[in-house]
Amino acid sequence: MQLANLAGRATVLGPDGSGLDVAKASDGRFPADPQALYEQWDEFVEWAAGQDGKADIAIDQAALGAPTPMPRQVFAIGLNYADHADESPFGRPDAPPVFTKFPTSITGPYTAVTLPSESVDWEVELVAVIGRTAQFVAEADAWSHVAGLTIGQDLSERVVQLAGPAPQFSLGKSFVGFAPIGPALVTLDAVPHYEDLALSCRLGDEVLQSGRTSQLIFKVPELIARLSAVCPLLPGDIIFTGTPSGVGGARKPPRFLPVDGVLTSEIEGLGHIRQTFVAGPNHPAA
Ligand code: ZN
Repeated sequence: MQLANLAGRATVLGPDGSGLDVAKASDGRFPADPQALYEQWDEFVEWAAGQDGKADIAIDQAALGAPTPMPRQVFAIGLNYADHADESPFGRPDAPPVFTKFPTSITGPYTAVTLPSESVDWEVELVAVIGRTAQFVAEADAWSHVAGLTIGQDLSERVVQLAGPAPQFSLGKSFVGFAPIGPALVTLDAVPHYEDLALSCRLGDEVLQSGRTSQLIFKVPELIARLSAVCPLLPGDIIFTGTPSGVGGARKPPRFLPVDGVLTSEIEGLGHIRQTFVAGPNHPAA
């Protein structure tokens, strides 16, 4: 099952590009607000399984919002692919470095992002969405707490991120528009071999990053076990799981996102998201 946010309303996607409005089709049993829907996730999934063939509205791609527009908690993991850890100034971690992207940075899948500077970098990432409260969850039980998967871009302003006596990961990665996700949440049963998905991003036609999620150092179940040992993971929370090698800041010379660039981020079985870039008021190109 694929769940999208169509102009703020939870919408189940049909096989032919059509959609089913969840609140209307369920006569209000389930809410229109996609974020609120995760509170009734198990019931909703059961209901949605009986709605085959009922999708009746056209999906306007431009109207898609984030499948989790305002999660209470956003976890993000740094240095979670060995080749990316090796290209970073930090090296391979013994424990997953955790930061957040503040929820106001979340947007839908197809957006124009305002560049605050000439130092904004790309990071394609698998995003896991929590469907059941997870507290002290064992790795073996972790996938059952996941509602599904989606694509995220962990856009990162490297000067802010790396300034000061200790890196400011959360702040440098939370400018407006820096957490596009989508195009839809895809449940695990609809993603073949969901522990080994090809992921990539490209600028125009140039491939910038290419990897597989099976290369994650700390895989989704271990992340859920480790995080839920500290704080409960709540329905609708999301985890940005980390990025493979090929980020711009690690290149020699460093490269960053250009004004008018078109960044396409893709994960096997989950579709793609696409960002374009415009100069903000403090950008030299403005
Ligand atoms: Zn990242």
